[in-house]
Amino acid sequence: MTQETRSFQAEVSRLLDIVAHSLYSEKEIFLRELISNASDACDRLRYAALTEPALAEGDSDYRVVLTPDKGARTLTVADNGIGMNRDELIENLGTIARSGTAAFMNQLSGDARKDMGLIGQFGVGFYSAFMVAERVEVLSRKAGENEGWRWVSDGKGEFTIEPLPEARRGAEIIVHLREGEEEYLEPPRLRTIVKTYSDHIALPIVLNASGKEETINTASALWTRPRSEVTPEQYKEFYHHVGHSFDDPWLTLHNKAEGVLEYTNLLFVPSTKPFDLFDPERKSRLKLYVRRVFITDEGTDLVPPYLRFLRGIVDSEDLPLNISREMLQSNPMVARMRQQLTRRVLSELAKKAAEAPDEYANFWDNFGAVLKEGLYEDRDHRDELLALARYRSTARDGLVSFDDYLAAMRPGQDAIYTIHGDSLDVIKKSPQLEGFRARGVEVLLMTDPIDEFWIPAIGTYKEKPFKSATRGGVDLDKITPPEERKDEKPEAPAKLASLIAIFKLALGDAVKDVRISDRLTDSAVCLVADEGDMDMHLERLLKQHRQLDTASKRILELNPRHKLIERLAATVGETGASDQLSEFAWLLLDQARIVEGEQVPDPAAFARRLAHLLERGLPQAA
Ligand code: ADP
Ligand code: MG
Repeated sequence: MTQETRSFQAEVSRLLDIVAHSLYSEKEIFLRELISNASDACDRLRYAALTEPALAEGDSDYRVVLTPDKGARTLTVADNGIGMNRDELIENLGTIARSGTAAFMNQLSGDARKDMGLIGQFGVGFYSAFMVAERVEVLSRKAGENEGWRWVSDGKGEFTIEPLPEARRGAEIIVHLREGEEEYLEPPRLRTIVKTYSDHIALPIVLNASGKEETINTASALWTRPRSEVTPEQYKEFYHHVGHSFDDPWLTLHNKAEGVLEYTNLLFVPSTKPFDLFDPERKSRLKLYVRRVFITDEGTDLVPPYLRFLRGIVDSEDLPLNISREMLQSNPMVARMRQQLTRRVLSELAKKAAEAPDEYANFWDNFGAVLKEGLYEDRDHRDELLALARYRSTARDGLVSFDDYLAAMRPGQDAIYTIHGDSLDVIKKSPQLEGFRARGVEVLLMTDPIDEFWIPAIGTYKEKPFKSATRGGVDLDKITPPEERKDEKPEAPAKLASLIAIFKLALGDAVKDVRISDRLTDSAVCLVADEGDMDMHLERLLKQHRQLDTASKRILELNPRHKLIERLAATVGETGASDQLSEFAWLLLDQARIVEGEQVPDPAAFARRLAHLLERGLPQAA
């Protein structure tokens, strides 16, 4: 086979264009990326060789060697890890296989500075070499295979690939430096970069300059060092490496468990929200080691899914080295570690919530929706999770815990009131909240779909039931208003009753019922779900996801103190009033639907009625 020229996937070309033209000031991070990949490749071979020792070919002194060559203006990063075959070179270095990188591409703004920040956030890994390189060569042979390959690209849309029989096991990345980037040929500079970004790498990183080899990192796994000997900077760099993340860790949990189970955990909670949090294809960022040997980062079951935002490692002293990935799921030691780790993380979060509520609020905005999955998935930790939950509410600016809520309940109030919707701004303005506000009753604003699921599963908090403010069965009259609020009783109850009867007759099957409301103060009407029916927002949500194709009927509530309703009631009994009132019934029903964010089933009829009404409101033309 001879040399073959191929094009990068279009997205890669775009990405490379941004990388090459970026004004990013910290170009040196390309070296961290290449060393990080080399270290991953060694970890993967070390694991594979546990079950297939022949793969190591007698060379299991895993290491990364940096060789600057001033004559050739190249810096080579070589490893003796697992390597790549032809298909893998094409796939891994020519396409954006990682899910979510597409999401990154979508977020690009075209503003170089901002996009470079995004690159920081999403990580461009291998491609970062093109920040300093005019050309990159990759020589590689995959462990266990005979053929070697040479991949070359100038990062401008194409790469070539050809056989290279003499390629050594592992990968050699040869960075042909651009003019002006000579600093990466200087041993002192390379030492500083490695110390700064890669000291945590557990393998030796060897500098090979002027024929002399010198290990320039500490070369012991960071998590085996005592906490007091690890600087925040080192934790951060380690977090970047294991988490493939580029933000700062918000929380770092570095512990050694001794006792029945012996293990070390070094876990991080990110300070920003990863883009793939809800992507079912996301990669796990939690790695399992057994006595310093990397085992896997897939399906480790080390933490429950609702803690999937954690990044880091767990290194067990007890598990057998040859544990297969499949065996992990049923292993009782793994199950016990999961219990302990979960408890540790939750109690650490509780501490933060108490000590640093502002920071915690930021965490909650990022990961609250994920953590809440635990409320119905994990009975064992439900109480801890409930204590960690926070919501925005109608009564204050910041986040509210359920205990805060209970403490502010009004005399006579016996439930925790919630309202559900897609956006805070919209639900805050819901007419159904008017009566709650008037009585000083706080309502929790819930905008995560998950809230629709855990609440029915739990039902109560400290014996107080959760109740939706947009459903029947809310008895606001029992709750004492803050100051003596004079509830003017409607003037003519008999006429009001007739009005309701006329509305019911007119609307027929379109509604479940028409009632007097005690939850409205300013609006004339609103829709609510019947007490036993599904919450209106949940119903919309399920319909959107095609999980539901029937609709339950709503109750139309009328505000007896609203001027419009009063005047409509006053017309009851006048000649011709009935027909006119039926028209009003339909208009008000459609209006309530619109406020609710629902479709008007017959927009043409709505428009016709509205036009008719507007016309009647105008003075007669002469
Ligand atoms: P990431 O490391 O986040 O997966 P990179 O862009 O850094 O993304 O690398 C892309 C892929 O290329 C890696 O996932 C790996 O499969 C492969 N790769 C990169 N460098 C090496 C190497 N030195 N040895 C083996 N595979 C490598
Ligand atoms: Mg990488």
